[in-house]
Amino acid sequence: MDTNAVLYQDLEKILVTREEIAKSVKELGQKLTEKFRGESPVFICILKGASVFFTDLIREIDVPLTTDFMVVSSYGSSTKTTGVVKIVKDLDKPVVGKHVVLVEDIVDSGMTLSYLKKVFANREAASVSIVTLLDKPARRRVELNVDYSCFNIPDAFVVGYGLDYDEKYRNLPDIGVLHPRIYEN
Ligand code: 5GP
Repeated sequence: MDTNAVLYQDLEKILVTREEIAKSVKELGQKLTEKFRGESPVFICILKGASVFFTDLIREIDVPLTTDFMVVSSYGSSTKTTGVVKIVKDLDKPVVGKHVVLVEDIVDSGMTLSYLKKVFANREAASVSIVTLLDKPARRRVELNVDYSCFNIPDAFVVGYGLDYDEKYRNLPDIGVLHPRIYEN
C-alpha cells in the first residue's frame, strides 16, 4: 500500500503485483523481439483497458514496430459481457500485408478478440497475433487461440494496471479483485 491507498480499500485482494507484472512484461517483450526480428509489425492497442500494458510492453520490444489504437465496445459500467462487439474508433492506417499484433488487457468470453481476428483477416493482414495481459480460460464462450498471455487468472472481476470498473481504478499499479460490495448495489 502506498500513495494509492484509497483505491486499495475497494479491493478484496491483490492478485498480481507490480513486480510480477514488470517481470512478465519484460519476458514477453523478449519473446516478441525474437518472433518479429527482421519485420516491422503493427502493434494495436485495444483501448482503454490495454493502454498501460501496451505502453510498458512496446518499450521492451527491440524491432521497428509501429502503433495504432482502436476502441471497441465493452462492459460499460457493468461487470458482465453484453456479447455485442462494436468498433467505436477504428485504426488510422490500413493493415494490408502487415503483421498485426492485437494487444488486449484481458480475454474473458473471447468474443471481442474472436470478432477482431476475423475483421483483420478480412482486411488482408499478413498475420494476426493475439497478446493479452490476463486470461480467464474458465470463462471462454468461443474458441480462440491466444498466442501470448502473461497471467492466467480465476473467474473474478479484476481492476488495476489499466483495467477499470466504471472508468475507475485504471491507475492502480497492481491488479486486484474488486470487492463485490462496489458493484452489487
Ligand atoms: P471478452 O470479449 O473476452 O468477454 O471481454 C474482453 C473485455 O471484457 C476486456 O477487454 C475487458 O474490457 C472486459 N473484461 C472482462 N473481464 C474483466 C475483468 O475482470 N475486469 C475488467 N475490468 N474488465 C474485464
